[in-house]
Amino acid sequence: LSDRLTSTFKNLRSKGRLSEADIDATIREIRRALLDADVAVPVVRDFTASVRERCLSAEVSGALNPAQQVVKVVNDELVSILGGETRTLRFAKQGPTVIMLAGLQGAGKTTLAGKLALDLRTKGHTPLLVAADLQRPNAVTQLGVVAERAGVPVFAPHPGNQGAETDDVVGDPVAVAREGVAAAATREHDVVIIDTAGRLGIDALLMQQAADIRAAVDPDEVLFVIDAMIGQDAVNTAQAFLDGVDFTGVVLSKLDGDARGGAALSVARVTGRPIMFASTGEKLTDFEVFHPDRMASRILDMGDVLSLIEQAERAFDAAEAEKMAAKVASGQDFTLADFLVQMQQMKKMGSMKKMLGMLPGMGQMREALDNFDEREVDRIEAIIRSMTPAERENPRIINGSRRARIAKGSGVRTTDVNQLLERFAGAQKMMRQMNKGGGMPGGMPGMG
Ligand code: GDP
Ligand code: MG
Repeated sequence: LSDRLTSTFKNLRSKGRLSEADIDATIREIRRALLDADVAVPVVRDFTASVRERCLSAEVSGALNPAQQVVKVVNDELVSILGGETRTLRFAKQGPTVIMLAGLQGAGKTTLAGKLALDLRTKGHTPLLVAADLQRPNAVTQLGVVAERAGVPVFAPHPGNQGAETDDVVGDPVAVAREGVAAAATREHDVVIIDTAGRLGIDALLMQQAADIRAAVDPDEVLFVIDAMIGQDAVNTAQAFLDGVDFTGVVLSKLDGDARGGAALSVARVTGRPIMFASTGEKLTDFEVFHPDRMASRILDMGDVLSLIEQAERAFDAAEAEKMAAKVASGQDFTLADFLVQMQQMKKMGSMKKMLGMLPGMGQMREALDNFDEREVDRIEAIIRSMTPAERENPRIINGSRRARIAKGSGVRTTDVNQLLERFAGAQKMMRQMNKGGGMPGGMPGMG
């Protein structure tokens, strides 16, 4: 017998990989979530393939069930593509730090110029805004308004002409950008933010203009601003700006909308450039450092995946699982004390019922938890505490009179004691069946 148990134990241990069926089932759900979030189709294909690869070689942690394991790999991969640690602005060692903004019209560049200026000003910097969008009537005025709200000065081709909008502002945006940077140096501004023109679609001339501005002022950062609602177009747009202008970082705007943020993943994956900031509204204070982990959760739309996993790890004490496995391996029988430990684990899991339901492939477990009454655990505990050590070791000796005594001692009915002993016998049987190589069903024997 002991031999067979030892080989079962080995079996369990060498099962330390996720099965392809487990992985594929969960990945199907992930694929759907990504497509729903408007991640570009080729990116989804690429991403799921690499996640699958990683799952196949992943070490299995005893604390998580297969679906959670896959979700953890997916989440880790998402966070790593989205940037892991967020990168902050690089400041010039000498002279003013030059930050150039690029992106389609309406992406949120001008608004971002104000947000960045305000943020930098509150951090003790002295930013100057430069109006190098001379394409759209009103663009200079708009930057002027934004600058005033941010409490910073603006360098414009026609200072003082605000409100006098007629046709396109005449002038050379490259020259304005160059003069703006020079003015910043003499007026001792430590940061210059250059707002540029964009078109509704990708436009070769405008792209060239942005490239020329870049060449003229040699910015420390070129921030590509992209509307999070852009969806599937994100990849083409980002690629065009990468090829046409090149950029050092990405700002995702309009994250206050319903967009699930698939654009973030598409852009990060295709360009390899870090997403640095998030724009979350029209007010200048609606601006924050980009959080890859939050974005990963938003893209997956499965609640806070990370905290779920942490909770699962806590609830399913890995050490407890190890002890149980060792016990099975050593040929000892599963006792009422073990049963009680399992019930207590279940109780902890109960509090995360709602979150579990949000995970793919967790429907079954959720059902089991739905049928699980937490007060039941307290009752079971009371009953087991009223047993003598000998009875706990070997419940077969618990005859009628012992049952009556235990019931009285724990304040329950004799039928409750009977029920517990039946459930325990069932759990014990299930533990023995593990010998036949089934492994712990859902990691939780004794359920239901
Ligand atoms: P630009 O053409 O790239 O300079 O874009 P603008 O800064 O002019 O922004 C275009 C529109 O989007 C304006 O109406 C802004 O108020 C709005 N906008 C910009 N950023 C955000 C944002 O993060 N959230 C929301 N809801 N609106 C924004
Ligand atoms: Mg603008």
